[in-house]
Amino acid sequence: MTPNAPTPMMAQYLALKQQAGDCLLFYRMGDFFELFFDDAKIAAQVLDIALTSRGEHGGAPIPMCGVPVHSAEGYLARLIRAGCRVAIAEQVETPEEAKKRGGSKALVARDIVRFVTAGTLTEEALLEPRRANVLAAVCEVRGVIGLAACDISTGRMELEECAPDQMGAALARLGASEVVAPDSWDQAPVDCVPRPNRSFASDEGETRLKAVHGVSTLDGFGQFSRAMLAAAGGLVTYLDHVGRGALPLLLPPVAREAGTHMAMDEATRSSLEILVSSGGTRRGSLVETIDRCVTGAGARQLAEDLSAPLTDARAINRRLELVSWLHDDPLLRGDIRGILRALPDLGRALGRVVAGRGSPRDLGQLRDGLSEARRLHDLLAARTDRPEPLDAVLPSLAGHGALCDLYSRALVPAPPTERSQGAYIAEGYDASLDELRRVSGNARRAIAALEAKYRDDTGISALKIRHNGVLGYFIEVPAKHADRLMAPESGFTHRQTMAGAVRFNALALHEEASRIAESGGHALAAEEAHFEELVAHAVRAKEAIASTAAALARIDVAAGQAERAAEGGWALPRVVDEPCLEITGGRHPVVEAALGVRGERFVANDCALNSQDRLWLVGGPNMGGKSTFLRQNALIVLLAQAGGFVPAQGATIGLVDRLFSRVGAADNLARGRSTFMVEMVETAAILSQATERSFVILDEVGRGTSTYDGLSLAWAVAEAIHSINRCRCLFATHYHELSRLAETCDSLSLHHVRAREWKGDLVLLHELAEGPADKSYGLAVARLAGVPAPVIKRAKSVLEKLEKGRAATGGLAAGLDDLPLFAAAIEAAEEKVDALRERLNGLDIDALSPREALDLLYQLKAQANG
Ligand code: ADP
Repeated sequence: MTPNAPTPMMAQYLALKQQAGDCLLFYRMGDFFELFFDDAKIAAQVLDIALTSRGEHGGAPIPMCGVPVHSAEGYLARLIRAGCRVAIAEQVETPEEAKKRGGSKALVARDIVRFVTAGTLTEEALLEPRRANVLAAVCEVRGVIGLAACDISTGRMELEECAPDQMGAALARLGASEVVAPDSWDQAPVDCVPRPNRSFASDEGETRLKAVHGVSTLDGFGQFSRAMLAAAGGLVTYLDHVGRGALPLLLPPVAREAGTHMAMDEATRSSLEILVSSGGTRRGSLVETIDRCVTGAGARQLAEDLSAPLTDARAINRRLELVSWLHDDPLLRGDIRGILRALPDLGRALGRVVAGRGSPRDLGQLRDGLSEARRLHDLLAARTDRPEPLDAVLPSLAGHGALCDLYSRALVPAPPTERSQGAYIAEGYDASLDELRRVSGNARRAIAALEAKYRDDTGISALKIRHNGVLGYFIEVPAKHADRLMAPESGFTHRQTMAGAVRFNALALHEEASRIAESGGHALAAEEAHFEELVAHAVRAKEAIASTAAALARIDVAAGQAERAAEGGWALPRVVDEPCLEITGGRHPVVEAALGVRGERFVANDCALNSQDRLWLVGGPNMGGKSTFLRQNALIVLLAQAGGFVPAQGATIGLVDRLFSRVGAADNLARGRSTFMVEMVETAAILSQATERSFVILDEVGRGTSTYDGLSLAWAVAEAIHSINRCRCLFATHYHELSRLAETCDSLSLHHVRAREWKGDLVLLHELAEGPADKSYGLAVARLAGVPAPVIKRAKSVLEKLEKGRAATGGLAAGLDDLPLFAAAIEAAEEKVDALRERLNGLDIDALSPREALDLLYQLKAQANG
């Protein structure tokens, strides 16, 4: 061997590492998974474990670290959370097999058995119970974006398509923990996993889906476009790759129709803090404040409902009807929640079982979950006053009688998570298994009897029969009595001498022990065979079980929403078609809860937008409650369209097709890009996408730049929203000057949050009132915030000077009086452009001499400027 050639083990490692690509390679060596080279450095840092080294490669020591196999799951979880992906290389033969194959020095064969990635987890320990774990695939087919998403822990799969500018919003809604996209696509989302282009082909997707579901056409599942199927191809191919050919549970795909859900882009979602708060966690988010679900599956469904509120009044009212029924009947609600609370996570247990990673305990969970579902069914079916929407889910709760029966007979009451020790098949299920157990039980008793007999025979009362993994059963006596058993005619054979004891075997003991080993082995094999068969039953019923799980989650969501509404005195919203928003006594659920903890009261406020008064400018001091008011109304719309009660005394909500929320850049300093640029990009999106059915909240837009720039932009944006988009809008601003917009914009009105100065102190009332804000109270807020008195005093004198100047010149907004109306100004600009276009279109360029062309250019330029 040349000095630099890798050892056979290293050669094997490097070949596997090549297959693993950019995944960390967990290389199995005995009881450890070892990592080498850069993988070791990354893992050591993320996991905070020791980095050592081993041998050398290319003249340098090889960095190495390792984790014990028995606790690998915890380490995997941390690596995945840190954004890593891991390939697991196992030993695929025993050392004995390797020796037989290649002699005494043969290396044990290893292979990658599985990839562990954020989007493809099924292990209970690696998943968060109250969060769906979504894997998404996205690609473009002839200008249309196709998206495929699935949660392989429960098998749900959804396909959709959208325009390229809606891709961000769609991905934001899905909230995938992993996204795969074609490797050659330059518009691929950032941080996605690149995958070969060819897997994103619609015929590939179609073929794969047909194969997964054993059908010859997908028509029975719905209509899928080419873009959807191409994305599905990318998704299923990736799952196949990650599972090394073993596919997880996949339910038939569902096509998500465009427009059935309220559109919200990423910026809106994060500013409304729907599923995660600005701190990046669930704490302080909307979902945390309203989630009263008693099952993980319910919590996941609620999060999905909040991510994708509906736009169809009928569908919303169906959800509301159920919530309302449960709201009005606390006893029934308590009973239902009592049953649900004890439920195992049916969907995820099914996911593990179908993926081939199920345990006897998972089967036990299916049994318990399905029979409890039946109990819930009976409870609800007995109610004659049940609302109509409940009838749609009721049948899914029942119908597993045969499976429950089988599992009840076959499994012990609390089956273990491990299969290797057996003891999960119930007695009485299989007579031959019982017989094997009886034989081994008899043998155990016989061994106990032997112990007494040997004590009698030898007269050594300290004699014991013991068992360990190496010797099996043996007889042990203290060293001082050993001689008696050592005698050739004693009937005992010596096995081992220890410090204070000597160990023996005997023929009768050996016979009984063999009987135990043999029947035990047969019993294990029999249990294993039963297990496979029980799993096959679940696999055959997977769709029905999944729909039971979905029905349970739906009922949990409704009961949880009802519970939350009862707890907070919330109201049933009325959903209508007209573009209005009438909310009386509205509250912000998260702020209200936070104030409640401190023993403070939330001041409820009304909102009344309609087609004659659709844009409210909200002024008033900082900290006065403007943002809170804006957001509470957006959240109320969202909650209502998600099918829940709302934190208000009453609410009439004209259906919203798109919801936008923007916060002035100063609040978002943590972001990477120039904050003002971000603010403008986001504002531009609203101006191009908001329709007459949309609802927009704009919080201090324009704040991120100089006063003049900011005011001008805020002015122009407000005008455009008013006259072009014509959507409902709440616009918070501290620019007094904007109040002059009320003079020209008919459907705009002025409001402010009230404040009073009392004995030199500022009192914020958090109460919304009509009319413009009287003054800005900036200095009073600064004092409230603890800015030192001399600084406040100095600021006061600067302010006085500025205000004097303002009085003399007409102020910041001087000169706006002769500003043409917004619509007129736009028309004028467009006219000019049109004249130019006409002239250009009429040109015959080939007929122009260079001199004429130059003249013409001068003329066109003059026209454009004129
Ligand atoms: P602004 O946008 O005007 O600067 P915020 O909406 O951020 O003000 O409110 C500042 C603080 O005032 C909030 O964090 C909350 O503690 C309190 N607050 C806001 N609205 C209310 C209300 N309606 N009732 C009680 N307290 C409120």
